[in-house]
Amino acid sequence: MSERYRCFFAVDPCDDLRRAVTSARGTVAAAAGDVRWTRPESLHVTLEFLGDVQSERIDAIAAAASVAFDGSAPFAMRARGIGAFPTLRRPRVLWIGIEAPPLKTLAAALDAALVRCGFPASGPWRPHLTIGRVRSLRGSAETRGRLEALGERDFGTTWVESVQLYRSHLQPGGSVYEELARFPLAGGGDKEGVADGHRQ
Ligand code: ATP
Ligand code: MG
Repeated sequence: MSERYRCFFAVDPCDDLRRAVTSARGTVAAAAGDVRWTRPESLHVTLEFLGDVQSERIDAIAAAASVAFDGSAPFAMRARGIGAFPTLRRPRVLWIGIEAPPLKTLAAALDAALVRCGFPASGPWRPHLTIGRVRSLRGSAETRGRLEALGERDFGTTWVESVQLYRSHLQPGGSVYEELARFPLAGGGDKEGVADGHRQ
């Protein structure tokens, strides 16, 4: 019998960005809020969540994604601003915003390829790094105050050179992701200005 894999496509922040996010998070975590924080190594920007997929379909999905990304160049992705879904007043998911127009193009190409594979078209998408999940509203006013204080903070830039297809293993302390495939963005890119993006 075939296995089902819980899958998603994502791009990953560089180590500098993971560190910047984790240190800012520390100031928020010092508040009394009841939040499960994302482990630094698990931070990612989801392009598309596939849900449970029959394992024998993975190769076809990877092939379709590879065609969708063909010719795409590496690009800079900026992490800026902190917020919460659905709102800061009723926070469930705490996030840092992601600014990267090429990422939207990639996500749209991927979505079209996945629709051809039989997946439903995805709805509106706001690229973000999930930094924490609110477990209860205990202490949430103070957490919100600290999030608002970080407001539009710029966390820096990552140079994105590949997209990953991950399998998620759900676990009580936070899911663990296993890389199933990596898609290099092999087109020509312009790396200028990225060093600047690392400055805080
Ligand atoms: P955990 O569920 O343990 O808190 P997680 O949400 O990161 O961790 P998954 O639920 O496997 O782990 O999700 C993997 C990725 O897909 C995450 O970025 C998550 O936000 C996203 N995701 C999960 N479910 C959906 C969904 N229904 N629609 C869109 N994105 C989703
Ligand atoms: Mg989840």
